[in-house]
Amino acid sequence: MPTDNDGIMIILSSPSGAGKTTLVNMLSKLENFEISISHTTRLPRPNEIPNQDYYFVSEEKFRRLIKDQEFLEYAKVFNNYYGTTRTPVIDKLNKGKNVLFDIDWQGADQIKNKKLDYKLITFFILPPSREVLFERLSNRDMKDKLIAEERMKQFSHDVLHWINYDYVVINESLEICYSKIYNLINAIINNGPKDYDENYIREHVEKLTS
Ligand code: 5GP
Repeated sequence: MPTDNDGIMIILSSPSGAGKTTLVNMLSKLENFEISISHTTRLPRPNEIPNQDYYFVSEEKFRRLIKDQEFLEYAKVFNNYYGTTRTPVIDKLNKGKNVLFDIDWQGADQIKNKKLDYKLITFFILPPSREVLFERLSNRDMKDKLIAEERMKQFSHDVLHWINYDYVVINESLEICYSKIYNLINAIINNGPKDYDENYIREHVEKLTS
């Protein structure tokens, strides 16, 4: 049974390349914050650690988890399945831990629609411009510029989901973006004033989509 001492759920989503995973890792260093580790059918990247970055599982195992209703949410992203299992999240929240989710808009929608009794804050991270995003994606995927181009096309679709999030934050510099998210979380937890300019965000999205 949820109580006032429960942790809160904090979702960060973004189009690919906006820096969300780094931000989630930075936030997870805060006292009492823990990352929800997702399951995925994607293969590990060379720098990724199994059971820490993801639980890497076969499609067969993923399907079994779906059938057994283990997932709080799951979705197909770029041809692979990704999902959050319910039990570890609820256990953490009940122990008063704040849980960070690095998940896409489909997962964010599903968790929102579940209307759980735990407080939920959703953030959508955006790049400062299309040019900067393309540069970031090209650096990440040196070997294959096509992937960067593919993800730019995906960006035009993904960016449209900004409207369903509580807050949109622009990742111009990691430190500033981190502080903005940190300050908003603090303001929400403590019922304090929020430094958030919705008109500025609206104009930024218009620039990104025009
Ligand atoms: P990547 O393969 O680059 O690690 O992640 C691809 C996308 O899948 C990212 O947008 C990431 O946030 C999203 N993602 C990672 N884990 C989950 C999850 O458990 N559920 C959902 N819905 N999306 C996830």
